[in-house]
Amino acid sequence: MGETVYIGFGSNEGDRLDYCDRAVTLLGLLPHSQLIAVSSLYETEPVADERTDPGSGLFLNGVVGVETEIAPRSLLAICLEVERALGRDREECQGPRTLDLDILLYGSRIIHEDDLTVPHPRLHLRRFVLVPLVELDPSCVHPELGATVKELLDRLPPSPAVRRLDPQPGSRYGSRPTCNIPPAAT
Ligand code: AMP
Repeated sequence: MGETVYIGFGSNEGDRLDYCDRAVTLLGLLPHSQLIAVSSLYETEPVADERTDPGSGLFLNGVVGVETEIAPRSLLAICLEVERALGRDREECQGPRTLDLDILLYGSRIIHEDDLTVPHPRLHLRRFVLVPLVELDPSCVHPELGATVKELLDRLPPSPAVRRLDPQPGSRYGSRPTCNIPPAAT
């Protein structure tokens, strides 16, 4: 059913663990979809680029895998709605963020539209995305660059640091049972 989509999530403001937990929970409720994998949580230094200045707060980041029949643009609309529901102020969209969701990969599709680029245009540059993605599926291929996500990660310098967190006792995220279920398991 559907195609395998990887969605990255991150939070560097407020109760970061709770925002990540709630994002994963909501993404697990998508219609015509099944959550197939949830990465560990990683704590990462904020990365500023020419577009963004996310402030100085450390991020929590992770990636989920979803098998879905939802079309890419509809999925983007849902991601933006989840960001809004969890309090992200898009007026301050380049600053600190309660929750950021990015469609990283949508099967092997290549999409270049005004408001949607897939694979995500900075996927191959970001350790905080590639490290959880490699945890879930190291052999997953970037359809434009023709390299696996593991190969892309190996090309990056070791900093900025991406530190795997132990699940935090009592957190809903830590008690989540789903992790890395192979999509083709029968
Ligand atoms: P950001 O501030 O980084 O969350 O950027 C969000 C905006 O990027 C959205 O309004 C989308 O229209 C646009 N965008 C383009 N490609 C993607 C993608 N693959 N995933 C999420 N947002 C995207």
